[in-house]
Amino acid sequence: MNKVCVAKFGGTSVANYPAMCNCAKIVTNNPHTKLVVLSASAGVTNLLVELSSGNLDAQGIEDRMLKLSQIEFSILNDLGSPKEITSEIEKLLHEIKDLANHAIIEHDDALTDRIVSYGEIMSTKLFTEVLKSLGFKAKWFDVRTVMRTDNRFGKAAPIIEVLSNSAKEKLVPLFDGETIIVTQGFIGSNAIGQTTTLGRGGSDYSAALLGEAIPQCSAIEIWTDVPGIYTTDPRMVKEAAVIPEITFSEAAEMATFGAKVLHPATIFPAVRRNIPVFVGSSKNPELGGTWVRSETESKPTFRAVALRRNQKLLTLQSPNMIGACGFLANIFSIFAKYGISVDLITTSEVSVALTIDNTGSQSNGQSVISEQLINELKSFCKVRVDDNLSLVALIGNGMSQVSGTGAAVFASICDVNIRMICYGASSHNLCFLVNSDQAEHAVTELHHKLLEGNPQVIK
Ligand code: ADP
Ligand code: ASP
Ligand code: MG
Repeated sequence: MNKVCVAKFGGTSVANYPAMCNCAKIVTNNPHTKLVVLSASAGVTNLLVELSSGNLDAQGIEDRMLKLSQIEFSILNDLGSPKEITSEIEKLLHEIKDLANHAIIEHDDALTDRIVSYGEIMSTKLFTEVLKSLGFKAKWFDVRTVMRTDNRFGKAAPIIEVLSNSAKEKLVPLFDGETIIVTQGFIGSNAIGQTTTLGRGGSDYSAALLGEAIPQCSAIEIWTDVPGIYTTDPRMVKEAAVIPEITFSEAAEMATFGAKVLHPATIFPAVRRNIPVFVGSSKNPELGGTWVRSETESKPTFRAVALRRNQKLLTLQSPNMIGACGFLANIFSIFAKYGISVDLITTSEVSVALTIDNTGSQSNGQSVISEQLINELKSFCKVRVDDNLSLVALIGNGMSQVSGTGAAVFASICDVNIRMICYGASSHNLCFLVNSDQAEHAVTELHHKLLEGNPQVIK
């Protein structure tokens, strides 16, 4: 069986025709790349989220439709406006407008996902045409026929077993050694065929899930706008450097704690099948990138710093906690009921503090914390909610197994007010909460003092 490489291209990589041509070159230069997974062209998903909100008037819809059409038609024009695909895109744009008008009358999360999915449908139709126009055999594939998810519109969870079986039945037989299959990231469908989405930035996750589902997959490539995973976000710290190789565990921590270059769940399917993941720049593939693998040669104590903004700190207080059993179970069953994942936790005699990620990773951009949830918690305990907080995470190796880690970290940022610390749950991560206005400063200082120059190893 021939090896298959899955290549995913993000929004900026498919933003326009020249960018799509760069992607086509990357795909066709690697004879193993037979599955291409795409995001919507840059800006399209945001426009579709607005169109699905139900809050726009007729003029608002017109404005967004115009911007959307400009993005799609600019690619079509550069392609020479081929008749069939032009009328297909026109039809899709009409459908979006009809659905946006419908959203004004009757709005729900299922409709939002349906509308938002059009971005990936259009980019994949256009990219298939780009490959064909360059003389390659390419086939558009509707990922919803294999990417089965649950019903959580906006942040649906894949059902791995169904995906694996359907991929073997419907996708794998298409690999004939020649045809390049082009499909959508981000979207899926539930058991009754309604369109769902995996959450913002979910195309990375789709690519990894598809890679896992294809038995002959040998690599998953994530092509984006930076040449690899950096020691911190290069937009924030200009001294950040590309990490040539990093372990699955470290990359998963980075993604979970805010390194936007990978969707938080991307690494898990790769780990399950031990498939290496490559991250590189679609504009400058010659710069190389980062390989994410199970083992790496170097294992520095400090590898990277990540930042996740928009965190909420919930402090729950009750005298009933003293020596009581089951208090936390009650509290966590409420979070579970609302489908909310709790991040950091610390406890004292009568209180529990926990953080919740509110970065709006749901496709509809809504907050994950509702008034209903807070009221339900209040029936058990006093609840205090603090906003404007950010989570800073140091990622590395063996951090909780050597002395001096805490001293090195906190001495670097002694002018920063630390609100909460989590350390020891994983030897790859030390994270803490700070006020958002001090977050960038904390990241920059940690980077300067612990990551620049030779990677530091504490013995
Ligand atoms: P795509 O649209 O290709 O999925 P994203 O915008 O989601 O791209 O992710 C790429 C961005 O992630 C980069 O432009 C960069 O600003 C940001 N980023 C944050 N942390 C890191 C990091 N540690 N390494 C590289 N990029 C990072
Ligand atoms: N297009 C979706 C988004 O903008 C998914 C993705 O790009 O990964 O979030
Ligand atoms: Mg992304």
